[in-house]
Amino acid sequence: MSDGIYAFPHGRKAVARKKKTKAKSITGSDRAFLPAPPAAWKKGAIHVHTLWSDGRGLPEVAIKVYQDSGYDFIALTDHNVFQEDSQAWRELMPVEGNWPPSLSAEALQLYEQNIKAPPDRKKLGFKQFVRLKTFRELKKSMEIPGRFLLLPGEEITIMGIPLPDGEIRQVHMNCLNLEQTLPPLEGRDISETIRINQEKFEEAAGRTRKDVFFMVNHPQWQVFDVEPRDLMENTSVRHFEICNDGSSFFIPDGIYSLEKFWDIVLAHRIEDGSPVLYGAASDDAHYTDPGRMHGTAGVANAWIMVKCPGRFTAGNVIAALNRGDYYPTCGVLWEKLSFVNNTLSVKVRPEEGVHYMIRFVTTKRGFDRTVKKQFYPNKTQALGRNLLEYSDDIGKVVKEVENTEGAYTMEPDDLYVRAIAISNRKNVLQSKLFPVYATGWTQPYLNQEGLQAK
Ligand SMILES: [Zn+2]
Ligand SMILES: [Zn+2]
Repeated sequence: MSDGIYAFPHGRKAVARKKKTKAKSITGSDRAFLPAPPAAWKKGAIHVHTLWSDGRGLPEVAIKVYQDSGYDFIALTDHNVFQEDSQAWRELMPVEGNWPPSLSAEALQLYEQNIKAPPDRKKLGFKQFVRLKTFRELKKSMEIPGRFLLLPGEEITIMGIPLPDGEIRQVHMNCLNLEQTLPPLEGRDISETIRINQEKFEEAAGRTRKDVFFMVNHPQWQVFDVEPRDLMENTSVRHFEICNDGSSFFIPDGIYSLEKFWDIVLAHRIEDGSPVLYGAASDDAHYTDPGRMHGTAGVANAWIMVKCPGRFTAGNVIAALNRGDYYPTCGVLWEKLSFVNNTLSVKVRPEEGVHYMIRFVTTKRGFDRTVKKQFYPNKTQALGRNLLEYSDDIGKVVKEVENTEGAYTMEPDDLYVRAIAISNRKNVLQSKLFPVYATGWTQPYLNQEGLQAK
C-alpha cells in the first residue's frame, strides 16, 4: 500500500498539471493535460460467473444486475475461459438442470425483460441456441465510459491435485485485465500450482504491456485446500479473498479462522521482509436471477471499494488494486482511513441504529514460529485434512473499541496493524462461513519504524 494514500491523495501531481493548462483554452487535444479528477472510491465486483462457465445467467443479465445494484465496475471471471469465442452457442433447455447448468428458458426470459437488444438465436432441427456475447461485444454494449467499467477476467480453476497423503485439493485463481483464455496448469502441489499459473499469466500479460491483477481465491474451498504456507512460499501473490460468499462450506470443525490465515501469512512475510498480502471480498456470484441473487453465491453480499485516482479506467483500477488502495467489505464502509506516523485511524460510515465494534489486530516481531501438524477429520466428505497449526502469538487483537471510530498507534515491535469493523446488523446472507454481521476490513499497514530499523 502506498503510505498515506488515504490522507494525501496525490495532491502535488494535480497541482503541477493544473499549471500546465492554465493559459490555454481547452480544446479536444488539450484534454490529456486537464488536471486529474480527485481520487474517488469505486465499488467493484471482481469475481462473477455467467453461462460462459457455471453461472446461471446470460452475461448481459449479470452485468445489468450489478449496474442496477450501484456498482462502478465488474469483472466476469468464468472458470478457465475468457469470453473471446465468437461462436459460443448454448442450447436452450426448459430447465437449467444440474451442474454445469444449461441455458434455461427462465434465464432467456430474464434477458428479454432486461436487455433491449435481442439475443442472437438460431435453430438446428428442433433445437434452439443462443449465442454468448464476447467480452468485446459486452464491453461495447454494456460499458458506460467513465461511469461503469467492465474488466477482463478469468478464474483459473484446477479441480483436483492429488497429494502424496491421498488428499485431493483444488486451487482457483482470478486473473484480471488479460484478454485471452489461459488454460489451467497443474503442479505437483498447491504451492507449485499457484506459482506456475501466476508465472504463465504474468508472462502473457507482459506481452500486452498492461497492468494485471492476480488473486488466490477462497482458500477454504473445498476443505481448506490452500494453506497459509502456500502463500508464504509464493510471495509474489499479493491478493487473496478474506471473504467470499460462494465458496466456503465444507470446512472441518475446529480449524483456524480465515482471519488467522491472513495473520499467519502477514506475520511470516513481513518479518522475513517479503511483501504484504492484501485482502479482497467477493460474491463469487453464480446466481443473478431475482429468486436467488440474495442467497449464497448471489449478488451484492461482499465486494471491494477501490480508491481510484485520475480517470476511471480499467488500467487505473488495476493499478490501484496492485498498490493495495482498496478494502474488502460485506456491509461496513469506511468514512475515514488514514495511516500517519504509525497510527491507523479509522471511522466507519455509520448507518442509523447500527452499532459498531472496531478491532485492531497485529503480530509482534519475534513471534513463536513453531507449528504442529494436526489432522482434521471431515464429516461431510471422505477426505480429512492434514494441516499445520500456528501459535497463538499470531494475529492478536490489541485494541477493541465500541464506537464508530478508533485509532491505534503501533508499538515498536508490531509488525503490522489492520482493523476490522463489525456491526450488529445481520447480513442478509446467512451461510456457514460468511460473517453473520456486516463487517469491513482495512488492509494491513506496515510498521514504518520497524522498516527503517531493518
Ligand atoms: Zn472458485
Ligand atoms: Zn468463482
